[in-house]
Parts: sequence; structure tokens; C-alpha cells
Amino acid sequence: MLRVVVLGAAAGGGVPQWNCGCEVCRKARGEHPELRSTQASIAVSADGEHWFLINASPDLRQQLVATPQLHPAKGRLRHSPIAGVILTNGEIDAVAGLLSMREGSPFTIYAHPKVLAILKANSIFDVLSEKNVRREPIAINVAFEPVLGDGKGSGMEIEPFTVPGTSAWYLRDKMHPGGNASEGDTLGLCIRDKATNRHFCFIAACAEVTDALKSRLAGAPLVFFDGTVWRDDEMIAQGLGTKTGQGMGHISMSGTSGAIESLAGLDIDRKVFLHINNSNPALLAGSAERKALELAGWQIPADGTEFVL
Ligand SMILES: [Zn+2]
Repeated sequence: MLRVVVLGAAAGGGVPQWNCGCEVCRKARGEHPELRSTQASIAVSADGEHWFLINASPDLRQQLVATPQLHPAKGRLRHSPIAGVILTNGEIDAVAGLLSMREGSPFTIYAHPKVLAILKANSIFDVLSEKNVRREPIAINVAFEPVLGDGKGSGMEIEPFTVPGTSAWYLRDKMHPGGNASEGDTLGLCIRDKATNRHFCFIAACAEVTDALKSRLAGAPLVFFDGTVWRDDEMIAQGLGTKTGQGMGHISMSGTSGAIESLAGLDIDRKVFLHINNSNPALLAGSAERKALELAGWQIPADGTEFVL
């Protein structure tokens, strides 16, 4: 049985974002605290005891406090159920939480060599000594089974695949420490329970839904998908900035090439948006945008929501 806990559903900045006075952020600070959401990450376990994080957000410390499944076991002076972290990209909202795991507990980081190169090039991550924290390269389209601290298998098989996207924002127009190969900056993951053969897929950043991606997601019991913006120009339209969704490597929820329309008719049981920016009006319960996505069979999870497969 696979258990998946949504640690956070928000895009970079979270809800509310520290310097933002948009409608959603104002409401989240005020009369609608239920809008508050931490930056996107999930935890997954095949045995309910050992857990793997998919991405480590800057809000990780707060997320771990709020998630009983990830607390140290009773009676143990030093312990964590977290056996590893799988990184799907090198953005700040995917890797900064690693710095909150620096207190000497062993775990393994799994990431594409391009993302491992980013960690290696930034000496602040050396605080995670390689003696305790192994760094394991993963390869596109090569399934792997993450291992537990004692070297035993986790019971999960994970297949990383490439998704149209961009490299981390802070590396634009700079030399990428992982070289110029175009693949590896943005990965999706399909995670399968070896015992039951049930699986789900996780795509936190996606610039385009290709036919290859559609056939990979078809028939999946559960999909977490990039829900950054409702429409491509919403940040500009709301006066919040100059970036488009596409410019940041994210398709919109709406529109003919958006996520809702592109993933319709693929026989996916449960469709869940993740990585939702605070500019996205679909965050507001009762908005026309929220109604439209729910009518199309999608949901926006609250932090802490657990899915069982
Ligand atoms: Zn805002």
C-alpha cells in the first residue's frame, strides 16, 4: 500500500508570500487562514514506517512539525522516519529544505546528475556530510528502488522521466554547473508499489503536455500535476510581476493547451494540482476558476492531505 502525504501544495513563496499583498495572500493572512499553504513537497511510503520526500521545500521544518508520520519514533533519542529525498529539479523551492536536515541523521539524496552538480557547486550543501548523506545519481527512464538506512529495499520502484521545462531560475543566462545538456533539469516521477503494482505520478513543473507525457499518465490511479498559474499572464495582469507561466516553465491550468484540457480523457482516477502560485484565483473556494477545475475532476489539496493507494 502506498501512502502519500501532501506536505505543501504552494509554489515558490507559499501562501501568503512574505512580500505579497494580492487578494489570496491578504485573505490568507486575515479572515481565511485555511488558504495558507507551504511550498510544494510530498512524502511517500510503501510500509507506513519509512518515508521518502519528493523535494525538500524551504518550509520543510514547519512541514515536519505538522506531520506526525515524519516524527521521530517513540522512545528514540535521535531518529527520523525519513530515509531519503528525491529531487525533481534544482529550484530553490525544491532543494533549500535540505539545509534543514543537517543535524547528522543519515539519509540519501537521489537526483539527476545536473541537479547533483548544482548541490556540489554550492558549498553550503556540504553541511550535509557525504559520510551521513549519500548522493545517488538517477537516470532518465531508468527505474530504481530507493533503499532504507540498512540497505534494504523500500518496496517502491521509481521511474524518472523528462518533462518539458527550464533550468532553475537563478541559473538563467549563467553557466549551468551540470553542463549544457538539455535534459535533466525537470523530471517527473512515476512511483510504483512493488507489492500491489499500484502507482502514481508526480509532475511539479511542466512547460508542455506532450503526447509522450499523455501516454505515460494515461490510466494512472493518481496524478499530482503542476498547477502554478490559472492563466499564463496572470501575474502581469494582477500587477504582481513581469513573469509569465511559460517563462517560468509552467503551463497554465486553463486554456486549450493547459493542464485541465490536456489531461482530460486520459482515464486518470484522481487528479491533484500541486505547486500553486498565490496569484492563482483557483485557490479561492467558490471562485469560478475553482468550480471549473472541480467540475473537470481536479482538486487542490490542503497541506497534510493523505492519499492511500
Ligand atoms: Zn500573493
